[in-house]
Amino acid sequence: MTDTLQKSTLQELAARLEFYRELGIYDFYRRGAAATVAADSVLAGVATDSQAQHAVTAASAATERPQPAPFSSSSIPPASQESTIPRRTLVSDQPVPPLVSFAPVLPAEQRPAALAAVRELIGECQRCQLAQGRNKIVFADGDPNAQLMFVGEGPGADEDAQGLPFVGRAGQLLNNMIAAMGLKREQVYIANIVKCRPPQNRKPEPDEANTCMPFLERQIEIVRPRVLVALGATAATYLLGMRGSIASMRGRIHDYRGIQTVVTYHPAFLLRDPTQKKEAWKDLQMAMSALGIKAPSRAPQA
Ligand code: SF4
Repeated sequence: MTDTLQKSTLQELAARLEFYRELGIYDFYRRGAAATVAADSVLAGVATDSQAQHAVTAASAATERPQPAPFSSSSIPPASQESTIPRRTLVSDQPVPPLVSFAPVLPAEQRPAALAAVRELIGECQRCQLAQGRNKIVFADGDPNAQLMFVGEGPGADEDAQGLPFVGRAGQLLNNMIAAMGLKREQVYIANIVKCRPPQNRKPEPDEANTCMPFLERQIEIVRPRVLVALGATAATYLLGMRGSIASMRGRIHDYRGIQTVVTYHPAFLLRDPTQKKEAWKDLQMAMSALGIKAPSRAPQA
């Protein structure tokens, strides 16, 4: 009985670890090295009891919220420093920021410079294969002190040409959505999971998204919005570590490292299926409620 229970626990654990790995999560925050060793043992089927127990603990820890750590702009590694991200797929040896827990909130006046430092660190990035087809890196747009931040999937053709997120037709609809919330685009912060355009606007591959994510994580850490809106399933998956249909992730407030997070449809999808705008509006109203903004009654126009 005990053996059967242990076997099913290990099978469940192995499935869970495979899922984390598919998302590119290997390090389980700061418990990484030991957890990875234990996880490897479990996946290889050679875990000792203590390794299996350790891996169970580590896998649970992966869903815990990280504790704050001190922040200073010097925590961004200089170009000459080696990356500390373990086993992340890189196509160059350019450094990326280490995955660290959120730090205390940065004073508002320091945020523009901190964001500029992240942009400088990105440089003419060649860290993943998306560099090969891009024209411009799309870093972000908006207020470094925004209370509301939107995260999309990746740049399209217009964004790639202009170096700004959400400037094409989908961007116009996003602008309308923001206006319907009673806000201006300049009052929010907008970024994407990946900063370079995927070929033929395909979904970013896991290694591409996970290579680029530390930059977005640092942007969120610096801006520290009160509410995040994930636009589409890809943004939700990489922000929240969840995989599922957009329908299964909508309709509730998620937690991204202590930030209330709402999942809604990507504006590009809403252009293809305008009947879902009413549903998206419900999501935006939820975000407004989390922000303490009074919701106008009308839905955004195309
Ligand atoms: S998508 Fe991100 S990691 Fe990849 S090349 Fe562009 S900036 Fe670098």
